Amino acid sequence: MIHTRVIAVARDEPEVDILNEAAAVLLGGGLVAFATETVYGLGAVATDAEAVRRIFEAKGRPSFNPLIVHVAGIDQAKRYTTDWSARADVLARRFWPGPLTLVLPRTVDVPEVVTGGGPTVGLRVPAPTVARRLVECVGLPLAAPSANRSNRISPTRAEHVLADLDGRVHLILDSGPTTVGLESTVVDLTADPPAVLRPGPIGPAELAEALSTTTVAPRSHGETETRQAGPHASPGMLSVHYAPRTPAVRVESSARLTDVDWPERAALVAFEPIDLNHIPAQVVRFIQPTSDVAAREFYETLHNLDARRLDLIVAVEPPAGAEWDAIRDRLRRATIPYQRNKRR
Ligand code: AMP
Ligand code: MG
Repeated sequence: MIHTRVIAVARDEPEVDILNEAAAVLLGGGLVAFATETVYGLGAVATDAEAVRRIFEAKGRPSFNPLIVHVAGIDQAKRYTTDWSARADVLARRFWPGPLTLVLPRTVDVPEVVTGGGPTVGLRVPAPTVARRLVECVGLPLAAPSANRSNRISPTRAEHVLADLDGRVHLILDSGPTTVGLESTVVDLTADPPAVLRPGPIGPAELAEALSTTTVAPRSHGETETRQAGPHASPGMLSVHYAPRTPAVRVESSARLTDVDWPERAALVAFEPIDLNHIPAQVVRFIQPTSDVAAREFYETLHNLDARRLDLIVAVEPPAGAEWDAIRDRLRRATIPYQRNKRR
């Protein structure tokens, strides 16, 4: 059992001695959790296969699920791909630092354990100063998946990381809540046209606009929790993922809420105001109707509801529209469709 230390670090001007200490832990093969703008990441030096293996162990993550590699900038990214294409350059210049992961052919310096055994690597430059300075301080890229046990809710605060990974991570750098709150958009640039493997904060319209002529193909997900087949599958996209421990179901629209057999202690989550007459939910959470804020509140809300040990969480799917794709995707992974007499 590892002794987990939590150290507060200033978000805008991180203390140099703390960064050096974290870098020393990482260079010694240890694990450090730190905030990116999306969620907290569980970091290890990406070129150290032994250290990366410890991430999989700590998370209980299946080995075929690749990790995103965090770099300090474009120059460093180029060192880990054999094909820094014109498209990669356009997207990186436009959206980095930011919540966009580019899947590119890897070099031999990226160990297979990072890429799930595949020939590609997911690269991105995180926005927060703490994350970027940490990568710079280490001088090597950091592999960092979300800092939660596999299949649990992604952490948007250091407290979430500690609750899930106490005794499994050497150091947690607490720089406050994350600003975006939802995992990065993942784009496969080895596909033609580029394919969105995971919807996220940067939408398909923005990507297509940045690439001017190119269309960006959305990718739909399989319904079973198995490894996806196909050359451009994103192996990590399991259908049940990011789930609360409380039984959690979803309905297509608020009209369907009257079908629900409500237990005594239930929560309702919705993205639009709903007529609450005849809905006996004990707790009701409306998540703000602009998708920016919604992204930030989504995991927060699930964490808070999960902590209340309710009997059931019922969510109404967000409205139609591409701006809700990322949240709809995460909601579908956190819940199962409601079926009367069969909650989970
Ligand atoms: P996480 O770090 O937990 O947010 O998950 C990383 C996710 O990014 C994986 O589950 C994949 O969906 C995606 N990803 C990372 N690297 C690759 C890659 N080389 N090829 C395809 N998808 C990737
Ligand atoms: Mg994750």
